[in-house]
Amino acid sequence: MINNFKNLKNKNGDDVETVAVSKRSTTNEIMKVYDENHKNFGENRVKDLVVKYNKLPKDIRWHMIGHLQRNKVKDIIEFIHLIHSVDSFRLIDHINKLSIDKNIFTNILIQVKISNDDSKYGFLPEEVDIIFGNYISKNYKNIKILGLMGMATFSSNTSLIESEFSLLSRLYDKYSKVTPLKYLSMGMSGDYLLALKYNSNMIRIGSAIFN
Ligand SMILES: *Cc1c(COP(=O)(O)O)cnc(C)c1O
Repeated sequence: MINNFKNLKNKNGDDVETVAVSKRSTTNEIMKVYDENHKNFGENRVKDLVVKYNKLPKDIRWHMIGHLQRNKVKDIIEFIHLIHSVDSFRLIDHINKLSIDKNIFTNILIQVKISNDDSKYGFLPEEVDIIFGNYISKNYKNIKILGLMGMATFSSNTSLIESEFSLLSRLYDKYSKVTPLKYLSMGMSGDYLLALKYNSNMIRIGSAIFN
């Protein structure tokens, strides 16, 4: 139910944007949510993203939320609204270079590894300094860094999840003082209430919307 995810606020009282994660959903299922006046959808595979982009209304704002290979960036760069999953220096450099070639600006989030889980991608918290240093020195001319993204450990241990969200929230506050940021993307179906407690303002919800 998308309506459960409208007009949410975080602990600070800020509005929260919901990205409906449609990676397990058909275009018909997506259209039902779209018809409830929802425009933000997220996918984690380039191939699916391109197929759905081609089939569905052009005012959908597509979010790339899964690990992105450099050689696939070209397939989405001209229509993607926001890439949440920028997780390596080589990937940033490549997105920047392609954006310069195409004379466009690309909106990204920096994915930070806040979990010890081996399957999670992202920069180490201590690497984030280098990225913002480069950004401030205008080394990424055609990229706009709009914020941070992270995924907590998949666990029922709420204090572990809270400590991970708390870390990302502190990094967000820290780098917001360096450059204006807009989005702290954290929280999924199972843990978004905890994420809102740590002032997430963008949640990525799949199963709780589409099931
Ligand atoms: C699948 C996915 C989600 C949504 O997960 P649900 O548990 O279905 O809400 C959020 N973020 C990322 C990066 C995902 O891959």
